[in-house]
Amino acid sequence: VNQLFLALDYGGTKHTAAILRSGERVWAAHSLVFSPPGANAAYDQATLLRMARELLVQVPGRLSGIGVSFGGPVDATRGLVRLSHHVPGWEDVQLGAMLQREFGAPASVDNDANVAALGEWRFGAGQGANSLFYLTVSTGVGGGWVLNGRVWNGADGMAGEIGHCVVRPGGTPCVCGKKGCVEAEACGPSLARKAAAWLTDNPGASSLLREYSGNRPATLTGEIVARAAADGDRIAVGILDGSAEALGQGIGIAVNLINPERVVLGGGVTKAGDRWWDGVRRAARAQALPQARVEIVSAALSDDAPLWGAAALAMAAMGSVHGNR
Ligand SMILES: [Zn+2]
Repeated sequence: VNQLFLALDYGGTKHTAAILRSGERVWAAHSLVFSPPGANAAYDQATLLRMARELLVQVPGRLSGIGVSFGGPVDATRGLVRLSHHVPGWEDVQLGAMLQREFGAPASVDNDANVAALGEWRFGAGQGANSLFYLTVSTGVGGGWVLNGRVWNGADGMAGEIGHCVVRPGGTPCVCGKKGCVEAEACGPSLARKAAAWLTDNPGASSLLREYSGNRPATLTGEIVARAAADGDRIAVGILDGSAEALGQGIGIAVNLINPERVVLGGGVTKAGDRWWDGVRRAARAQALPQARVEIVSAALSDDAPLWGAAALAMAAMGSVHGNR
């Protein structure tokens, strides 16, 4: 009998669902829906239920497990969504139990960074590593640990939160209320904000940043800053170097604490070019003790990491039930 695993990714701006047959590396069925403005938890739940039902009709077989990636804090041991920072109505939702009731198969739920870490470990750039730290560097900075083939959630589900480790005391204010967190110094929007602040503070100075943004600082993005840096703009280079250094310092601290075999970086900011990668690696190496390896590689699954991780989560839960993880 064909064993099927259902993978669901509840994102802030889009939802994806897919079915994987055991032993295969391509989706048996896949669907993607972008969220309309003003979507709430009820919309999200109804949408993914409908997507999953439609996929299951397309693929014959028995559903053996469900894995879920959720874009927000999750109590993974209880399959409980704590809240979403982007979509209202997700406070204390028993998502795992709801899916289990609906589809009659065990459901495992975890946050997107942890699930993406598992996806890269099982199907991507983390294959073969006994211990892995995964970071996503995009609009925020998130992280997840896979240790001995399992996600390490920590006592309160808070493991891997490298984004809110302070590496620049008194530095850039962070959404969490502190200053100088890795996220506040290294995420994509922080590159844009720093560049915009410089343009505003130096109205007469010429810079590719001004040219590329049409002299509208508010339209700057991390991508534009990276492009200006690649084209040799001194200010953009300084901003990019500073952000790479802050991130690398954070990674070096994580290396000293856990000594992972491999560190995998995903997210839009990782497309900033070789200079950024060199800066991250140099700062991590400088922070880590010389005996600890610092192997920092690019993610292989890009935006699909949470969905592949959700499939891996479903398979891992099934494996642990039968004692052959
Ligand atoms: Zn913070």
